[in-house]
Amino acid sequence: MNEKTTAEKFTFQAEIKKLLDLLSHSLYQNREIAIRELISNASDALDKFRFVALTDDSIKDETPLEIHLEPDTENHILTISDNGVGMTHAELIENLGTIAHSGSLDFLKNAAGDQKEEVSLIGKFGVGFYSAFMLADKVEVVTRSYKEESGWKWESDGTGAFTIEPQECEKRGTSIRLHLRKDLDEYTNDTRLKFILTKYSTFVPYPIKLGEELVNDQPPIWLEPKTQLTQEQYDGFYQYLAHTGEEQARWHLHLSSDSPFQFHAILYCPQANLELMGFGRTEHGISLCAKRILVQNDNRDLLPEYLRFIYGLVDSADLPLNISRESLQDNTIFRKIQKVLAKRVLSHLASIAKDDEEKYLDFYRQFGSSLKEGIGTDFENRNTIAKLLRFPSSQGTSDNELVSLEAYIERADESQKQIYYLGGHDYNTIAKNPNLEIFRKKGVEVFYLADPMDEIVLSNLAKFEDYEIVSIDSSEVKLPGKEDADSESDEKSESKEEEKEALSPEFEKVLSLLKEELKDEVESVTKSDRLTDSPCCLVVPEGAISSQMQKVLSMNNKDFPMTKRILEINPDADLIKRLCTLTSNEDQHSFIKQCGRQLFWNAAMMTGIATNPDQITANIQSMMEELAQKRSPIIT
Ligand code: ADP
Repeated sequence: MNEKTTAEKFTFQAEIKKLLDLLSHSLYQNREIAIRELISNASDALDKFRFVALTDDSIKDETPLEIHLEPDTENHILTISDNGVGMTHAELIENLGTIAHSGSLDFLKNAAGDQKEEVSLIGKFGVGFYSAFMLADKVEVVTRSYKEESGWKWESDGTGAFTIEPQECEKRGTSIRLHLRKDLDEYTNDTRLKFILTKYSTFVPYPIKLGEELVNDQPPIWLEPKTQLTQEQYDGFYQYLAHTGEEQARWHLHLSSDSPFQFHAILYCPQANLELMGFGRTEHGISLCAKRILVQNDNRDLLPEYLRFIYGLVDSADLPLNISRESLQDNTIFRKIQKVLAKRVLSHLASIAKDDEEKYLDFYRQFGSSLKEGIGTDFENRNTIAKLLRFPSSQGTSDNELVSLEAYIERADESQKQIYYLGGHDYNTIAKNPNLEIFRKKGVEVFYLADPMDEIVLSNLAKFEDYEIVSIDSSEVKLPGKEDADSESDEKSESKEEEKEALSPEFEKVLSLLKEELKDEVESVTKSDRLTDSPCCLVVPEGAISSQMQKVLSMNNKDFPMTKRILEINPDADLIKRLCTLTSNEDQHSFIKQCGRQLFWNAAMMTGIATNPDQITANIQSMMEELAQKRSPIIT
């Protein structure tokens, strides 16, 4: 008998109180999912026990692992029991008194509207047990851990508190007694229960018995030949794996192989990316079976992290049953399966893209953000992943039109040797960046990267096929149509020198005035070859980090030093021409400097790296004051 003899009272963690309130008062659309959640917990407890029994020789128990549903019509009680691991006193407090996953509550609050789809996701957030209060106004959990000789009773009416008291239990495992709410007698009705169990729990790998009747006798579908399976069977299995109600997977992949090693797998891609819904990083893992027996239900190593959105099950007869999580990584077969899975998922994506680009883009908009990570982490499949990337470009009209690297190359001029991109705050701001002028004039396509992640991905990729990937605000960029000039004979480069010398003395003067004024802010001030209309632009010196990267780094570290840029000036711009003529008058030199400073700030604002709005506005204001002074109130 346990030492504690009387009932102890505990209060729920504040988050749980709110959750319970929501569950019993707002989320009543889809109550039947509570059955699924409780069955799923029972099944997990059986998994855990089987694993313990496999690895601990001292545990000898041949009793079949099963789940039982006992409806009691007279007393309005439904009991769901399992002979799994059970819970100790401490585990009861820990598991049924706190929420492990922060954020679950927020999610459910949003779901408290009329979106029953979202409520059905409850199990994904580690709060499935509490759905019991959607059905019951009192829940009793009687449990005995496999580690103990005696058990406990946990009890709560789903308001603020729960009690735990000792309870004699003959058998190991857990029984959940649901004292059904008024008007919910249907949950003691055999036909109704059978309907729910068939809908949600067909694939639970343990016998589920309603009274004496076995209600799930589904063979493992991953071992069946593809041709014999129906879409409904695939859907049902997906709903079981993904803890979801009506939803169908976006696509599935059924793989079977007998040599050189034996394995079967079914992988599913969900419709929506929960990470985009603001739920943080969601990793659920893949179910791993050896010889049909589940050894792990959330293996995170079978698929690379960038494919973490995929649900699935993998079964191999060549894996040992009692393998530990740690030694899996050292298992040759496991590593081979890992390799095959990533490759097959990527090639499946490639084939979707080939057959139906729109369908692929729909996938990419949901999961592209995860997929991109693969460029930095999966070197073996890098090129395949690169082909799956899509970005907005100057050929489109908004960031909704996405282009692949292959499509970009296909329409590029033969003479083009680089793939160009430009980062910035948003699509429209990027489109107005003066650095683009020469590219626009020559009709050269440029990727517009408003997502800082995209810029990291492309600069990390650095090369695609024979093309270097460069940011057009870098001084390393070879301007389109100018490649030949670089490789031309000495004669030509001499004439280039001459051209440089041929700058007018007035323009030289403007450059030197600006250099003097901006010596602390820019690396140099030079004549630009890339501008057609705008007076100036900023260029990143060789080897320095790009503007967008600078933004990302300074976001994480406010003191991150600002890389000095090159200020390029366009001698053909009207404003610059005017400044040139003003150079002959020394009194105007301070005005030229003031203009230069503002031009520099304007360019910094376009790139999104300006951090001194106070100085910028003060400068504009003083220029406006001067202009206003020169205006006359007399109508001419
Ligand atoms: P999740 O199952 O996602 O962790 P739940 O709220 O459904 O979240 O359950 C919380 C925890 O309670 C489980 O992780 C498990 O440790 C424990 N638990 C729930 N049901 C059972 C059961 N039938 N047998 C043993 N432990 C259980």
